[in-house]
Amino acid sequence: MKQGFHFLKSIRWRIVLIYVLLVSIAMTVAGVFLISELEDYMMEDVRSRFTKIVQENILTLQNYEDLGDHQEQIRNDILAWSESLREELFVIDESFTIIASGNENYLDQNALNLLDQSVLVQAFNGRTAEVDQILSSGVPVKNLVFPIQNGEEVIGIICLRADISNVFAMQDQAQKIFLYSLAMALVVTVLLAYLISRSITVPISDVSEKVEKMAQGDFSQEVQAKSDDEIGQLAQMFNLLRGELDLTLSTITNEKNKLETILEYMADGLLAIDKDTRKVLLVNPMAIRMLGLSIREGAEPSYEDVEAEFGSELAFDTMWEKSEEGGNHSILEHKGHIFSLRYDRFKDDADADVGLILLLQDITEQQKMENMQRDFVANVSHELKTPLTTIKSYTETLLDGMVTDEETAKSFLSIVDTEADRMNRLVRELLQLSRLDHKQEKWAMKEADILPLLKSCVTKMEMTAKQKEQTVTAELPADETFRVVMDKDRMEQVILNIISNSIKYTQEGGSIRISLREESADSAAGAAFAAATRAIGRSTGKVSGWVCVDVTDNGIGIPEEDQPRIFERFYRVDKAHSRKMGGTGLGLSIAKQIMEGHGGGIQLESKLGEGTRVTLYLPAAPTRGMRDIE
Ligand code: ATP
Ligand code: MG
Repeated sequence: MKQGFHFLKSIRWRIVLIYVLLVSIAMTVAGVFLISELEDYMMEDVRSRFTKIVQENILTLQNYEDLGDHQEQIRNDILAWSESLREELFVIDESFTIIASGNENYLDQNALNLLDQSVLVQAFNGRTAEVDQILSSGVPVKNLVFPIQNGEEVIGIICLRADISNVFAMQDQAQKIFLYSLAMALVVTVLLAYLISRSITVPISDVSEKVEKMAQGDFSQEVQAKSDDEIGQLAQMFNLLRGELDLTLSTITNEKNKLETILEYMADGLLAIDKDTRKVLLVNPMAIRMLGLSIREGAEPSYEDVEAEFGSELAFDTMWEKSEEGGNHSILEHKGHIFSLRYDRFKDDADADVGLILLLQDITEQQKMENMQRDFVANVSHELKTPLTTIKSYTETLLDGMVTDEETAKSFLSIVDTEADRMNRLVRELLQLSRLDHKQEKWAMKEADILPLLKSCVTKMEMTAKQKEQTVTAELPADETFRVVMDKDRMEQVILNIISNSIKYTQEGGSIRISLREESADSAAGAAFAAATRAIGRSTGKVSGWVCVDVTDNGIGIPEEDQPRIFERFYRVDKAHSRKMGGTGLGLSIAKQIMEGHGGGIQLESKLGEGTRVTLYLPAAPTRGMRDIE
């Protein structure tokens, strides 16, 4: 539709237009008909009057043989006759000469000046003729021409001319009245049509307005159904539809929210990919984290990024093929993580394939735990079997009675005894670890000064060191106290293990230094330690400071690659050497658990061939004044 006729798009204006057109057409038809009828009627009136006049007077003329012979008589008759008439009268003879007239100006003039020849000829042929004219004075006239017949012969014609301007004036008036009433009718029509169409369109626009609001998600719309007609029914249907939609939508929204929450907090990664566009249709935060997807704001995530990162293991085409027969499963490793991957095709309503759905599970920890468990069982069996084999072989030899020499027998028995001790220690340590694991270790925590304990440990170990001609230096402050909350026996166990490690893994003549110091909570090392303990999920609480025990040796050291695993159970750098030393490889892992049980920790720094330093951290006991309750 052209611009400018825009309003015609609205039903309201179309209805108005239709009404206006109908009324104007009807009125115009009626008007034209009435006006022409009126004109006809008036003209007919003129005509019948003429005929009457002529019929009354023509009789005398018809009696003449020749009009010219009685010209004088006729002229007088006509003159007299004309006086009683509004119309003009002319008598014309066969030579078209006006021989008599009410108006003397026309006398003896040629009738052709007065009338059309064809009209005259018609009259001379015996027919009545009629012609309308507008005179030079501007007056409209009607001429009626009648033949004057004497018997069969037409001897002349008589012409009557009447002013018909009143007919036209009447017609003009009628036209004016018509136009005026048309205008009035149209104004009324426009008003009425507008009101009528309004009553139809207002509820419709109300509905459409509310539908628009509904499209924007506002379902509180209710259309007022005032009437019981089609529009009222439309409003009722709208309200019904609104209610249904509202209900359905809220159900869907609830379901969607539920699903979104599940997806959001799901521990597994979920990913749905469109098979044609390879676009990621759905991805949960866990999948983003697992796959290292960087979803740019506004940009649509594409599976090609994942394929580029993971390569063939997550190639869409391969998975698509493999899932033809149903879901599939595989394990993949990426950047030190192990993922269990399940995938299957998903379909639309028409059962046509839409894309792939991927479920990823990070099983790194699980795998690690399984490996550790396996290793642990293998290690325990191995550690128990070695002394058992030794005990078994020595006792068998003794039972065989082959050893007669008492000295040898004694040495055999002492080996059996050592191995039994070793087994005993191993079992004890395993039990302790198990208690620590299951938080069943009973702690005898007491606030005490750690300095005396450290001193006694050094004294206890000095003898062993002396056997290896090692020098043990204890740099301990003489008159300071280092108060900590500790289980004394457990702390002793840890300190002895650390010192004995240093003695064990330091060559003869080496030196071992033991020192004690206090570090503030926000010192670099203290802060780093607190951060590390937080990182492994242990809270040390608010610590006022740290008491640190350093045991430093210049022994064999630990290779860098072994250092991260040194606190694992049974982990030893050199198994044979350690076993020879009577070690089980459980010492450091127990020490670590005990230190953590105290809210502290253990750190190890070492350089191969140069020596090792182990630091034990314990939270300093709050000073008296700072304690909450005394
Ligand atoms: P256990 O303490 O149970 O008798 P162990 O001493 O062998 O046995 P851990 O104390 O746990 O076991 O020590 C684990 C390993 O760490 C040792 O086998 C050794 O290889 C290495 N290690 C520990 N301390 C030192 C040290 N001071 N110097 C060099 N290596 C060390
Ligand atoms: Mg040890």
